[in-house]
Amino acid sequence: MLPLPTLKTKNQNIFPSEKILLRKDKEKFLKQKGRVIWFTGLSGSGKTTIAIALEKKLAKQGYLTQILDGDNIRAGINQNLGFSEEDRMENIRRIAEVAKLFLNCGIITICCFVSPTRAIRAMAKKIIGGKDFFEIYVNTPIEICEKRDVKGLYALARSGKIKDFTGIQMPFEPPVKPRIEVKTESNSINNCVEKILKELI
Ligand code: ADP
Repeated sequence: MLPLPTLKTKNQNIFPSEKILLRKDKEKFLKQKGRVIWFTGLSGSGKTTIAIALEKKLAKQGYLTQILDGDNIRAGINQNLGFSEEDRMENIRRIAEVAKLFLNCGIITICCFVSPTRAIRAMAKKIIGGKDFFEIYVNTPIEICEKRDVKGLYALARSGKIKDFTGIQMPFEPPVKPRIEVKTESNSINNCVEKILKELI
């Protein structure tokens, strides 16, 4: 067992930073560079599907990844948040902070969140750091997303059972200059992943 540093005074960190392994040490250990891959796009556009396929390909090449999406975030750390403007902002703020922790561990962190406004994505980018923030716009027309209606949410939004749904009652602001844009309407999942891999590696 490693000896734990002792707490000396109230104002000192329990774990002084010089004792913490640095990101570059961890990246060396993992033989990879940490990145945050941030997928933005409408619900049902294909963010999670592409993220899962991307993760599988990266794993085959020996890269360690972590996917953050609604399932593991809204059900856990953010389970006390709703969908008001304030809560949406707080949702993304916490996600970005969590992503930064993984990033500092050298892990390729794949975030799949609608993140509908430029302001919300700008905040995430600021927290994570522009150099490590790799924005991918999953550009799928609303009609296609609605036809897919993977989770039945569009039907609920149309019937008024869900309010403020992005793409129906609330706008989605496309990124101005995403690192990559993938169009799932005219490309297979595999094509989208290949396009991302080419840019990423
Ligand atoms: P999101 O995570 O953006 O809400 P999902 O990944 O859950 O979206 O759902 C996207 C749906 O679209 C899935 O049913 C998927 O199989 C389908 N789909 C069809 N073509 C593509 C494509 N090229 N890329 C990603 N998803 C696609």
